[in-house]
Amino acid sequence: MKTLFTVGDLRAALAPDRRDGLTIGLVPTMGALHEGHLSLIRRARAQCDRVVVSLFVNPAQFNERSDLDRYPRQARRDAALAAESGADLLFTPTVEEIYPPGFATAVEVLGLTDRLEGETRGAAHFRGVTTIVTKLLCIVLPDIAYFGQKDAQQVVVVRRLVVDLNLPVRVEACPTVREPDGLAMSSRNALLSAEERSRALALPAALNAARVRAAAGERSGDALLDAAREAMLPFGVEPEYLALVDPDTLEPLGALAREALLAVAAQIGEIRLIDNAVLNPTAARLDETQSIDDETLQPTVTSTPRQPLPRKAIA
Ligand code: AMP
Repeated sequence: MKTLFTVGDLRAALAPDRRDGLTIGLVPTMGALHEGHLSLIRRARAQCDRVVVSLFVNPAQFNERSDLDRYPRQARRDAALAAESGADLLFTPTVEEIYPPGFATAVEVLGLTDRLEGETRGAAHFRGVTTIVTKLLCIVLPDIAYFGQKDAQQVVVVRRLVVDLNLPVRVEACPTVREPDGLAMSSRNALLSAEERSRALALPAALNAARVRAAAGERSGDALLDAAREAMLPFGVEPEYLALVDPDTLEPLGALAREALLAVAAQIGEIRLIDNAVLNPTAARLDETQSIDDETLQPTVTSTPRQPLPRKAIA
């Protein structure tokens, strides 16, 4: 794996591949790589001839200087992990390389960015995200760009900007990778104290509770949100937002009549975490032999279902 620091070097490295018609995959990250990021890199490796991983802690998308300052940075370890997972090129530009003096352009997706994260973090956050993603797409010109469903709103917003700006790239959303106890992996998890780490389980617990209620047939949005909120209480965690929304428009949904996104954000001490689950009313209902798997948040069989007696035995 080659590590490149400038736009010029990256373009030069990719030029022969592009000429040869090779497919290029891009995995944008802010580093402090964990299994969630690595799953994206592996997916890119499986689907593309060349895999570019970008590592850039983008100051423009941080609301608070303190959050930016304490964001974990471990470039050497990240390089080793990216290489092991199949990256060909690691692009780690400096802030000046990305935002040189005189930089004056922003990309903004309207509407979608007002909700959920936008509502709590303000318009500047998503403007920072959409500007850097557009820049990375223009710099790398990948065939496929990989994003995690963990940041569900980001996926929706990026899909919108790619369509609206006619960018010739396919956006792939990859499933959320979780710790064995259900906590969604995040670079910020490393900043939690032991006590905060236990309280952070409030987020997957909320999603789990709503999923269990949905699987039992509950269709009322309020009832599902109540179940989720209640599940957070024992952890002493208040959601910053907890919302059932349309997975494409992010408009609030009053009922689970079709696929819906349940999104949650909460502040655990100094650290802000987000998580989400897709709820599906057509998913098989749970019966008494099933429960929800903490890791995948999917129904699993916990005991052997009782078999019906064979016809002969009845006769
Ligand atoms: P970040 O470094 O936090 O900007 O994340 C880089 C990419 O990795 C984004 O597309 C994230 O959605 C994705 N990602 C982060 N955490 C996870 C996770 N637990 N599972 C899957 N993808 C993730």
